[in-house]
Amino acid sequence: MTPSIPISLNTKRPRGLEDLIAYIKSYNPDVDTDLITKAYLFSEKLHQGQKRTSGENYFQHPIEVAFIVAELQLDTGSIVTALLHDTVEDTVATLAEIEALFGPEITALVDGVTKISQISFQTSEEKQAENFRKMVFAMAKDLRVILVKLADRTHNMRTLQPLRPDKQARIAQETLDIYAPLANRLGLSAMKRELEDLSLRYTKPEIYYKLVTQVAKKIKERDQYTQDVLAMIEGALHEHGYHNIKVSGRPKHFYSIQKKMEKRNLTYEEVYDLTGFRIVLETVEQCYGVLGLIHSLWTPVPGRFKDYNAIPKANFYQSLHTTVIGPAGERIEIQIRTTAMHDTAERGIAAHWAYKEGKNVAQEASKFSWLNRLVEWNKDLQDPNEFLETVKLDLFSEDVYIFTPKGKVIEFPQGSSPVDFAYSVHSDLGHHCIGAKVNGRIVPLKHKLKSGDTVEILTSQNQTPHKDWLKIVKTSKAKNKIRQFIKTQAHESSKVMGEMILEKELKREDLKFKTLLKEGLLTEVAEGFSLKSVDELLSAIGYGKLSAKKVIGKLNLPSSKKSSEDLKEGKETTRPLQKIVEEASRKSTSRQGIKVKGIGDLLVHFARCCNPVPGDSVIGFITRGRGISVHSRKCPKVFDSDPHRLIDIEWDMAISAERSVKIRVICHDRPGLLADMSGVIKDQKANITRAQIGTTKDKKAVCLFTVSIKNLPHLSKILSTLEGIPGVISTERVQKKV
Ligand code: MN
Repeated sequence: MTPSIPISLNTKRPRGLEDLIAYIKSYNPDVDTDLITKAYLFSEKLHQGQKRTSGENYFQHPIEVAFIVAELQLDTGSIVTALLHDTVEDTVATLAEIEALFGPEITALVDGVTKISQISFQTSEEKQAENFRKMVFAMAKDLRVILVKLADRTHNMRTLQPLRPDKQARIAQETLDIYAPLANRLGLSAMKRELEDLSLRYTKPEIYYKLVTQVAKKIKERDQYTQDVLAMIEGALHEHGYHNIKVSGRPKHFYSIQKKMEKRNLTYEEVYDLTGFRIVLETVEQCYGVLGLIHSLWTPVPGRFKDYNAIPKANFYQSLHTTVIGPAGERIEIQIRTTAMHDTAERGIAAHWAYKEGKNVAQEASKFSWLNRLVEWNKDLQDPNEFLETVKLDLFSEDVYIFTPKGKVIEFPQGSSPVDFAYSVHSDLGHHCIGAKVNGRIVPLKHKLKSGDTVEILTSQNQTPHKDWLKIVKTSKAKNKIRQFIKTQAHESSKVMGEMILEKELKREDLKFKTLLKEGLLTEVAEGFSLKSVDELLSAIGYGKLSAKKVIGKLNLPSSKKSSEDLKEGKETTRPLQKIVEEASRKSTSRQGIKVKGIGDLLVHFARCCNPVPGDSVIGFITRGRGISVHSRKCPKVFDSDPHRLIDIEWDMAISAERSVKIRVICHDRPGLLADMSGVIKDQKANITRAQIGTTKDKKAVCLFTVSIKNLPHLSKILSTLEGIPGVISTERVQKKV
């Protein structure tokens, strides 16, 4: 057994046309040898005289790329593309010439590879995002483009040695950032391992070469042990009638060892599972049979069995994984799979259409839900940086598989929450999601889902998406829907506000909003400000971008109606908004327990500075686009605020909305005091959500509790009861001073 040290495929004698055709024929006897020969000779002639940095003939590169493509057993079109892939960029050949000689399909492929080669991922974030988009677009059109590009990169990485160290490091880093994860996503795990190991060699040479030595030494040491385990597995299998079975030791590749050491801060010696074992059989039934056998031989480690046969990974990977306690008391990882599964595991998407000519490639690509997602986002996300963030996240995160209550499996990026799940089913379910039952247990929205969880969403019609949800969701679908909702909501509240402000101003001019609207005069004004509609005009006023006076100034009124009174404006109405709302109708409640006089359904949130609770005397501040923020009337921030934006509000005591407050208790430190205090708070039917205890120099204890309470009387009751506890010196509600 040898470790997976990447060896260059450069044999002593440079490989040529005969070797290539012989190789392809070994898996595809019907290959179009004429077409391959034509492409070979065409490219050879064009690259004639060109040398690589190493001094060898340039043409050797396209030949080797064609070999890598052939190892993936791709179709003739892909191999021809590999041979031609550098002709347009590096020689005098044109796409028109290629089209005349090889037809439109090959031309599109060569063009695609050329374009991807021109993409640089080293530029600014924004440029990078745009380049990512281009690549995704090329992939969606024809996946073979990216497969040939990956083969090209693989050969470049194998022959990186002669380049300058800075160039080596740059190319290796790009490979690690973009191409290795892509290979992984497409299921090309053999290629992914090679790209990662080669990248490690050039990005962190000291670590790489140290690992090579260590692994070689360890393998020698462990050789006997590995042989023993192999013999035991084989013996057991034969005894139970399994024959013609491949069992092999499976050393981890350097990059994954290094990752593991780095992530868990382990030394090389501590990375115990350097060797896993792989059993390859003929049928799926045999796989499960052998799994049972292994579990009867050695004790399985709970929670380590994974059935990727029943639920394949996003990149089609299928296998059974288990970890058992081996003969020496060590953990052993074992993979059990069929030959077909193994083929898919190594070649990924390539195994799925292989050399079978004439298959609909786009259709094959559509089987990759990951790729579908990318293409979808490409359409959805207008901001290139948002796209980049999402793609990067998705490119690197493993998927988790979640069951619906009906047993359907849905894939999510790791770290997804019930909110992601809810939005994946339906936007309405997402908007009203208040929590979930995961495997029958109620969990909060921020709960992280794990593979195999069954999720049932709990909803309430009163629930609406919150900005904080953006922090707990991982899927772009959920992110987009939440952002959209918040934008619409903000727009709506600004519109309502804008209409009120404008109506009030118009009244002073003896004008009627409704009449102007009917006569189309407001539409004209909106156009005058380059706004699409009256709604947008109102929203701009409510948001504070436009003043009502400016809007009125632009009104194209019959001269008799124009009044010069507007010069008197301002003095007698110091708080116009308050008057507006008083004049408006008085039937509105909010589920947060706040009544805004006359305005229904506005966004309301509680100011962090003073954190008012029901019973506190409060006032509203109309924010720019974020609805109304509720402050305590005593809050110093209120006095600094624009008085035109203050609005009267009151608590709706009919609604019992719980609010969180912080209370500080100073007491003499004595045993059992904490229990007494929490007991008192509990007796008052309040919930402690957080507690922090500290001590002062003079041995006093300072306790900070976050408690959810109903209203001010409730809070006062809690504070006075706390003060009754022996040892308590003082209690107070904590409000941030501004
Ligand atoms: Mn190339």
